[in-house]
Amino acid sequence: MAEGTQSLDFDFIVIGSGFGGSVSALRLAEKGYRVAVIEMGRRWAPEDFPRTSWSLRRWIWRPGLGLRGFFNMRFFRHATIFHGCAVGGGSITYAATLLVPPDKIWDNGSWAGLADWKSEMPQHYATAARMLGVIENNILGPADLLLQKAAEASGVGHTFYRTKVAILQAAGGEPRGLKVPDPFFGGEGPERSTCKACGGCMLGCRHGAKNTLDVNYLYLAEKRGAQIFPETRVVDVKPLGGATDGGAGYEVQTVSSIGRGTRRRFTSRAVVFSASSLGTMQLLFELKEKGSLPAISQQVGKYVRTNSESLIGARAPDWPEDLSQGVAIGSGVYIDEHTHIEAVRYPQGSDSLSLLTTILTGGHPGPRRIGRWFLGLVWALLRSPIRTFRLVQPFGFARQTVILLCMQALDGHLEMRWERPWFWPFHKQLVSRGRKVPTYIPEANEFARKFAQLTGGTAMSMLPEILFDVPGTAHCIGGCTIADSPERGVVDSQHRVFGYKNLYVCDGSVIAANLGVNPSLTITALAERAMTFIPAAS
Ligand SMILES: Cc1cc2nc3c(=O)[nH]c(=O)nc-3n(C[C@H](O)[C@H](O)[C@H](O)COP(=O)(O)OP(=O)(O)OC[C@H]3O[C@@H](n4cnc5c(N)ncnc54)[C@H](O)[C@@H]3O)c2cc1C
Ligand code: SF4
Repeated sequence: MAEGTQSLDFDFIVIGSGFGGSVSALRLAEKGYRVAVIEMGRRWAPEDFPRTSWSLRRWIWRPGLGLRGFFNMRFFRHATIFHGCAVGGGSITYAATLLVPPDKIWDNGSWAGLADWKSEMPQHYATAARMLGVIENNILGPADLLLQKAAEASGVGHTFYRTKVAILQAAGGEPRGLKVPDPFFGGEGPERSTCKACGGCMLGCRHGAKNTLDVNYLYLAEKRGAQIFPETRVVDVKPLGGATDGGAGYEVQTVSSIGRGTRRRFTSRAVVFSASSLGTMQLLFELKEKGSLPAISQQVGKYVRTNSESLIGARAPDWPEDLSQGVAIGSGVYIDEHTHIEAVRYPQGSDSLSLLTTILTGGHPGPRRIGRWFLGLVWALLRSPIRTFRLVQPFGFARQTVILLCMQALDGHLEMRWERPWFWPFHKQLVSRGRKVPTYIPEANEFARKFAQLTGGTAMSMLPEILFDVPGTAHCIGGCTIADSPERGVVDSQHRVFGYKNLYVCDGSVIAANLGVNPSLTITALAERAMTFIPAAS
C-alpha cells in the first residue's frame, strides 16, 4: 500500500459478502491487508432459518415490511430477479449447484481475447471447487429418479447427470446427519454435519451441511482479521482528499439496512464492489448520477443476462414417494444442445409456492395465452373438479411436486437503465429495457408433459409467466462487464474499474457471456483470479 494510508480505517472495503466478496475478503486478508466487509443482510445461524416457506418473516428480505429473511425478489418489466441478501450473500439461499460452464463462453462477449481464459481459468475453478467443497451429488431423491426416467422417455437419457454440489454428504453406507469435525480446512474450519436430504437448501440449511460462504471463505477471512459489518448498507463511495481518481483513497458511507442507527463513515485505500449484479449496477448508477464517481463508464447496465430461464414442473398428488426428499437440485438433463433442465425441490411443508403455479399453458405470450390458460383451467375444473382442486390447493405441494428449472444457453441480453418509471416518477430506479426473454419454451413444456405422465400427475407453469409474460430468474449476471475499454465495459480484465485507481468489481456483474449453467462457481473462480493480481501488503 502507498504511504500515508495507515491513517485510513481500512486498506480494503468490500461491499457485499456473496461469492465475489467472500473470496476477495479472504485473499486480501491473507495478503496482509486490513479488510472490512460491509453487508446489507443479517448473519444467520442454522437454527434461525425458517422451517418452511410459510415463515415469510424469516425467509423474505423486505425490512420495510418487517420481513428480515435472506431471499429477495426484484420486479422488472423483463424479469423477476431472485437473489440472496445475508452474510454469505446468495450462498445462504442458493441450491449449492456448482457447475463449470462450457469453454465456448470465453469466446463470446466483451471479455473474448482479453486473457488466455481457457488455459488460465481451470486452476481457478479447481481452487473455487476445493474451497466450496464441491462433490458429485450422491443423494438421488425420488424427483431425480423421475427426471432420469422422463429423460429416457424423451430419448435423452444419456444426458442425465448428478449435479455437482457444495454439500457435505455422508460416504455411502454411513448414516446421514452426523456431526463431524472440520472436513475441509485441516481443522481450521468449523464443525459440520452431513446432509439429511431434507430438500431445504433454498430455505437455508438448518443442519449445517450446506457449504455456505460463512463456513468457508468468510469464516477463514474473519480468522485472519477481516471485520464484517452486517445489516449495514453502503450508500456512497467517493474519492478522498481531492484526488478525483481515488489515488488518495475513498470515503464509504453507510446506513443501517433495517432502519435503525445512524449514518456511518469509513475510509479505505481501496474498494471492491461485490454487491451482486443487481446491487453493484444500482450502486454504480447512483454514484455516477450524484457525482460521487462521475467517471464510471456509460456501459453500466449493458449486457445483463438471465440464463434464459423458465420454471415449469409437475405435481403428482397420488405419487407414493415424498418428492421433497433429496438435495434442492440433485440432477439435470440436456433435452437439446441449448436446453438444460434441473430437478428442483423445496422441503416438506413449503407449500406457499403453490400460489404461484397453475396448469401448464403454452402459446405465444399475451392476452391469447392468458385466455388459453383461463379456458384450460375452467375446462379442467368442469371435467375433473376434484383432481383440479387437488392440483391448485396448496397443502402437500412440496411433497407432491418437482419443479423443473429450464435454462437456455442462447445469447440474449437486457439493458438496465437508471430512470424514473412512469408509475413512480418521484425518483430514479433500475428499469429494464430490451427484448424479452421467452417465458414459453415449447421443448421444455413438452418435457414437463412427459414428466407428469410418468407420475400420473399434471404439468405446471408459473402463473406470473402466463399473466405478465415475465420470467423469473435466480441467475442475473452482467451489467458491469469485463472489456478492453470503457467504451465496451466497466472493468478491465483484472476487474479494475475504468477511470479510477484501487476500485474493483468482483461479483456476477462482470460476467460477459451467457453461461447456460448456474453462475456461482464462475463468479468464485473469477474472483480468485482477480485477487492474484493484487500484490501482498508491504
Ligand atoms: C433461490 C436461489 C437459488 C440459487 N441457486 C443457485 C445454485 O444452485 N447455483 C448457483 O451457481 N447459483 C445459484 N443461485 C444464484 C447465486 O446465488 C448468485 O449467482 C450468486 O450469489 C451471486 O454472487 P455475487 O457474488 O454476485 O453476489 P451475491 O452472492 O448476491 O452477494 C451480494 C451481497 O451484497 C449485498 N449487498 C447488495 N447491495 C449492498 C449494499 N449497497 N451495501 C451492502 N451490501 C450490499 C447483498 O445483501 C448480498 O448479500 C441461486 C439464487 C437464488 C436466489
Ligand atoms: S438437503 Fe437439507 S440437510 Fe442437505 S444441505 Fe440441503 S438443507 Fe441441508
